[in-house]
Amino acid sequence: MHHDQLSLLVPPLLEWFAEHKRDLPWRRDREPFHVWLSEIMLQQTRVEAVKPYYARFLEALPDISSLSTCDHDALMKLWEGLGYYSRARNLQKAAQQIMTNFSGDFPRTYEEIRSLSGIGDYTAGAISSICFDLPEPAVDGNVLRVYTRLLADARCTDDSSVKRDIRDTLRTVYAASPAGTRGTLTQALMELGATVCVPNGAPLCGECPLRSSCEAFRSNTIRQYPVRREKKARKTEEYTVYILQCGDRIAVQKRPDSGLLAGLWELPHLSGKRRAQQAINDIADWRTGAAELISVRSCTHIFTHIEWHMTAVHLLVTHMPERFTWVTPAQLAAETALPTAFRICLPAD
Ligand code: SF4
Repeated sequence: MHHDQLSLLVPPLLEWFAEHKRDLPWRRDREPFHVWLSEIMLQQTRVEAVKPYYARFLEALPDISSLSTCDHDALMKLWEGLGYYSRARNLQKAAQQIMTNFSGDFPRTYEEIRSLSGIGDYTAGAISSICFDLPEPAVDGNVLRVYTRLLADARCTDDSSVKRDIRDTLRTVYAASPAGTRGTLTQALMELGATVCVPNGAPLCGECPLRSSCEAFRSNTIRQYPVRREKKARKTEEYTVYILQCGDRIAVQKRPDSGLLAGLWELPHLSGKRRAQQAINDIADWRTGAAELISVRSCTHIFTHIEWHMTAVHLLVTHMPERFTWVTPAQLAAETALPTAFRICLPAD
């Protein structure tokens, strides 16, 4: 199949989608704020993990105006555990741009949408097509996989010029698709990639509405697509993380405003792995007083490019020096945005 025949696949794809689409909370309307928020949350994150965050976020911040003025710590708390926290910061920045530059109304052209903080080609395409029926494709990993398999396209999909070319080709397919269908086309392509033409393991070609036109299926070469660049190995870092407990309070501190987990809270920690006594000796100048060892545990957290190997040392201390913020369990639960990497170091109860 040549790429100019792709348009012929739109009707069977849309028909399949109408019958098989999952009922997802953010598909119940096409309100730009909802579509935008869900697309940002779904980046690098599973649908099931996003659902409770999406509901909680909209309950706390139901519109662009409330997001634009939300307190930073409260915003981070709403995002706690979801990871890639710069997404939340960019959401707020974009909300402020919408309030200032567009009088609070979500912009309606691709270029204006693309100009907002944290919105790249993919998200701009998704919002443009789903909310405003514009002929702009949204090309994510799902769509690249479906596309390269359908056409047995062996170009490297990590190459930005290849991505651009695929987007341009799909744009002509969108333009040829009748008004009123562009948003559904975006959702249908993504859905096919997420539920049928799946990334790990064999795709469910037997259930695929495009099977009879699929080059990779015909030539039995599905495993060759999409072609990706080899991934770099993850770097490993070792830390000794301290759970310093005084009464029912524990010590936390703010992370710097830039870099990994910027502006979130953290448990005090030192680079390198320590045994219990060494761990106690090495924090003498924090002036937390005599320490009683409760436990030592090993925890691992994996980020995209780094792996943290942590030794979590839980100590009872007698002083609460001001270099730390000392929070109660209730504050830790309700107010302090402590990323997963540190939260897993806390004792279970
Ligand atoms: Fe993907 Fe198989 Fe459908 Fe081809 S036939 S698009 S490989 S699910």
